[in-house]
Amino acid sequence: MTAPTDSTPEAPQRVVIVGGGLAGAHAAEPLREQGFDGRVTIVGAEPHLPYERPPLSKGLLLGSDEPDSVFVHDQQWYDDQRVTLRTGTRATAIHLDAREVALDDGTRLPYDRLLLATGAQPRHLPMADESGADIAYLRTLDDSRALLAGLSGSLLVIGAGWIGLEVASAARQAGAEVTVVESAPAPLSAVLGPELADVVASLHREHGVDLRTSTGVESIEHADGRTVVRLSDGAELHPDRILVAIGAVPDDALAAAAGLATDKGVLVNAGLRTSDPHVWAAGDVAQHDHPTHGRIRVEHWDTAIQHGKHAARGMLGDEAPYTQEPYFFTDQYDLGMEYVGNPGPDGYDEVVVRGDRESRVLTALWLRRGTVVAGMHLNDWDAIDPIRAWVGHEATAELRDTSVALGDVPLPDSEG
Ligand code: FAD
Repeated sequence: MTAPTDSTPEAPQRVVIVGGGLAGAHAAEPLREQGFDGRVTIVGAEPHLPYERPPLSKGLLLGSDEPDSVFVHDQQWYDDQRVTLRTGTRATAIHLDAREVALDDGTRLPYDRLLLATGAQPRHLPMADESGADIAYLRTLDDSRALLAGLSGSLLVIGAGWIGLEVASAARQAGAEVTVVESAPAPLSAVLGPELADVVASLHREHGVDLRTSTGVESIEHADGRTVVRLSDGAELHPDRILVAIGAVPDDALAAAAGLATDKGVLVNAGLRTSDPHVWAAGDVAQHDHPTHGRIRVEHWDTAIQHGKHAARGMLGDEAPYTQEPYFFTDQYDLGMEYVGNPGPDGYDEVVVRGDRESRVLTALWLRRGTVVAGMHLNDWDAIDPIRAWVGHEATAELRDTSVALGDVPLPDSEG
């Protein structure tokens, strides 16, 4: 086992993980791999074994994934690893001085190291919640199952972000009539920028989605079994069901109530440790001090997994900073996308696009002051390695020469 650090001197015997999601489940892995022999407990509010969320808006909703394929590990794995899983149990308070977590079944769990992996919750739209209409949000396995059960008739999706668009795709493939309303001028415009967002807009329109951009929702009413949605352009819609997909908010209330430093997430240092020397945070809830990006909170599958593992090593004394670039993927219809990097609040000033918009096989690199800050491919799966390699590097003339395939462009510091 790695030696404990000066600031948390005693060797840990009891690790408690609050949050039985991706980050929490993956945190349990390196603990045993690194020889930690003490007690490991995962406290998860949901009734299920820890599971993957990406299939909830893709394979599970399409009916193409086996229901059990979403679980990170089966129960046997937790038994073999001597990890106690307390599903259906919510942590209600953290007592930092006593180093105990209070649970909603009245027990108190003592810890030497605590990992907060409480994730995020969908951002709510009060006018929808108060309307009495059939309103759905999508975060949990149960949400996904409920959505799947009613994926017919007409669906209004509010918000053309990743989840809204993935559900629109699944709903169209299930034969539903789908309208997507987005206040920005294009779907995913904050990530793709105006240069590329039209590729996604045309994809959905070609598949029969009524995509209304630069449009807000003014009111939602429901009476006599009929829903009336009024839009900012004066149009009126009558959907059977409404999915609100307007982003997520970090589940940091438990941490804040305990007195841990929070600011739109639990503040953690480069190594994912919180303001308390015995407590770490990982995944969607962590507001990370990233060595190259500064303060950043990432809501991506890969980050949750890597954060979980990194925090576990941290709890065993490894103070290395977490340096990985954010990575994201999405699948919509026959389009697969992978994205690496983070332009951050300073954005980008140049985009280098290779490939073909019509067939939607392309790569894009976003540059700021000549340095590649992010990259993406659409349906060009071999491109992800060169894209990863280029993020953080200064662009060369060859990189900007789009007649040369990205994989053939030498990195500035590579030989030959
Ligand atoms: P979560 O997975 O949310 O787990 C947190 C868990 O903690 C929850 O089960 C919650 O109930 C529990 N919890 C909270 N408070 C308490 C408490 N007090 N006591 C006990 N338990 C508690 N990312 C991608 O990169 N690509 C994708 O295609 C993609 N698709 C997605 C599709 C959907 C529908 C959703 C919702 C997310 C998707 N994501 C995707 C994002 C990715 O799934 C998340 O970033 C990831 O799940 C975050 O993991 P986490 O462990 O931080 O939080």
